[in-house]
Amino acid sequence: MGKNLSEFPIQYIKGVGPRRAKLLNTLGIRTVEDAIYYLPYRYEDRKNIKKIANLSYGQLETVIGKVIAADVIKLPKGNLKIFELTVSDGSGLIKGKWFNQPFLKKNFEIGQEVVLSGIVKRNPYWGIGFEFDNPEYEFLTDDRDAFIHTSRIVPVYRTTAGLSVRQLRTIMFNLINSCIEDLSDVIPEEILERNNLPELRKSILNSHFPDPELVSGETDIDVLNRGVSIYQKRLSFDELFMFELGLSALKKGKVIEKGLSFNAEGILVHRLLDMLPFRLTAAQQRVFNEILSDMKKPHPMNRLLQGDVGCGKTIIAIMAMLTAVECGYQSVLMAPTEILAEQHYINMHKIIEDTGLNICLLTGSIKKRPLDDIASGKINIIIGTHALIQEGVGFKSLGLVIIDEQHRFGVMQRALLREKAINPDVLVMTATPIPRTLAMTLYGDLDYSVIDELPPERRPVITRLFNTKQKDYIYKAIADETRKGRQVYVVYPVIEETGKSNLKSAIIGKEALEKIFPDLKVNLIHGRMKPQEKEGVMASFKSGGIDILVSTTVIEVGVDVPNASMMLIVHAERFGLAQLHQLRGRVGRGGSQSYCFLLAYDPLGEDAEKRLDIMVKSNDGFRIAEEDLAIRGPGEFFGTRQAGMPDLRIANIIRDARLLDTARKEAFALINKDAELKTFPELKKGLERFWKGKVELFKTS
Ligand code: ADP
Ligand code: MG
Repeated sequence: MGKNLSEFPIQYIKGVGPRRAKLLNTLGIRTVEDAIYYLPYRYEDRKNIKKIANLSYGQLETVIGKVIAADVIKLPKGNLKIFELTVSDGSGLIKGKWFNQPFLKKNFEIGQEVVLSGIVKRNPYWGIGFEFDNPEYEFLTDDRDAFIHTSRIVPVYRTTAGLSVRQLRTIMFNLINSCIEDLSDVIPEEILERNNLPELRKSILNSHFPDPELVSGETDIDVLNRGVSIYQKRLSFDELFMFELGLSALKKGKVIEKGLSFNAEGILVHRLLDMLPFRLTAAQQRVFNEILSDMKKPHPMNRLLQGDVGCGKTIIAIMAMLTAVECGYQSVLMAPTEILAEQHYINMHKIIEDTGLNICLLTGSIKKRPLDDIASGKINIIIGTHALIQEGVGFKSLGLVIIDEQHRFGVMQRALLREKAINPDVLVMTATPIPRTLAMTLYGDLDYSVIDELPPERRPVITRLFNTKQKDYIYKAIADETRKGRQVYVVYPVIEETGKSNLKSAIIGKEALEKIFPDLKVNLIHGRMKPQEKEGVMASFKSGGIDILVSTTVIEVGVDVPNASMMLIVHAERFGLAQLHQLRGRVGRGGSQSYCFLLAYDPLGEDAEKRLDIMVKSNDGFRIAEEDLAIRGPGEFFGTRQAGMPDLRIANIIRDARLLDTARKEAFALINKDAELKTFPELKKGLERFWKGKVELFKTS
């Protein structure tokens, strides 16, 4: 026949029609191809037929027998009608009950052979006997291959009101069997062979209606339910391959832009390194070399620097900025919050000024702005927030832009900032640990460096979970720690109490702590304070003038006070995993043992319990991010979806991480050999369909 499945409307498939087509559209199914790739979200094993006498209560079981009675029973109370079917297989009887579907009766005849599948129950009144509520049923014909709902591993699809799973399954069965021959496989054969991936048609069939007689193990119910049979993997691969192929085509097609080439001798960097009280770790050194080699090239650097909280990214940023400045250019460091920008400024300005350079802070709430000195080039290094890109700030010669904690910035903001200069080099820093392939996938065209080593003598922060009855222990620990001259953070979820939320707040918390610790200096910092006030408090904390700093999450990222060795997080159940890890990263920065106390209020949700448990067990940002990703799912984890990225419907980037890696390698190798896919016209068409409307992959010339 040769249908073009990607254009063949679902409406014209047997059993669909205009009304059901509308329902299917709401599931994202418009064409036959959409339907073919609409995979079950789980499977049920109904292939083992049991004798009724051997059934087990509570289990999903399948039986074959003869209908010996079929009646509609009307309950005296209410309007409830039950259709009741009694079936015998010689070993015993079982009843099937369907609620409010009296019309089913006409489908059954006494003496007819049927297959029933469902969870086995007892009769609710007598506590004995066998029953199914709303079982799946099928009529025993000679054609066993035509079984759709019983006697096999049965797919379960997500559906929508007005279309039952049974109806959708029947549609799928007919559609796949009638159209599978028209499905063409666009993935190059050698790629499939190299990676031991099965044939497309077989993979589709076995992902919808698995054939248990096939390769052993690959259609086991639990393998299928985890989505890791070779057939499901083949389909995930296709999706990931198309995704990566698009990315590689984009990258290849990009004209290599002209950019600045920084050939510094490294005088300023050496001056800086001489002043530091520590030596760079091997990882820091390696990453700086990667950055340096990018900066030397006459093309714009576009690099993502990832490293766990506390690994020492800031110093790398300073070194890169000094490199640009030595070549006569200005550098900008952009942070996601005012507090962090201020912190960077406080930490850096002395060291920068000691190297003989000019630095300024530029945030939304700073009134006196040295705009002229920025425009004239007198100021070499500018630290700020996104105010930097929103207001009319003009640079003389912006050469390098560093963005801290990138996961909080949108792609748009990055693009805007780059427009301020003629292709400056861009370095993006993040503590969000993203698996390498995933990072490259999500950030498409960024190169990637990772600091995978913490400075020496860092000890893991001891993390403990407490409930509200254990507060005295916490207070005693705080008293002991401050007696040693150390400082403590106490973090609250909100600034002020409101009637609604019932949460303890920073303002009330500070008052309470002042009463509990009359001899200690307690102070408060939060996002609604004026910048000068915040700066004053932070400076005072840094110089040891405050013992207990009560705060909100304004201190979440970047804040660096090595003498602070204890943190109490109040209402820890309220915070996300990434946030908890970031917060905890504020302690454990000096050489001494640090502590993080998580104080949780009841009731704890299931997810909250999981999060807190992971925090107690692990200090490893990478593991924590993986768990976080698993709890929240990728969409939420990475914030708003990046524009221009197609959705993944089959593959799961966590489960299929290794497959993603393979897909990426194959895709990039292919584009390297044949940038315009001239040898694979069908693949090219498929690729354009996959990315349709998102981006123009190939320049039409
Ligand atoms: P992050 O990567 O989270 O931004 P920072 O750059 O704030 O981490 O560094 C954390 C702390 O570690 C700072 O106090 C910094 O001075 C210190 N530090 C950075 N590099 C080293 C090193 N190689 N040896 C010892 N301490 C270091
Ligand atoms: Mg930092």
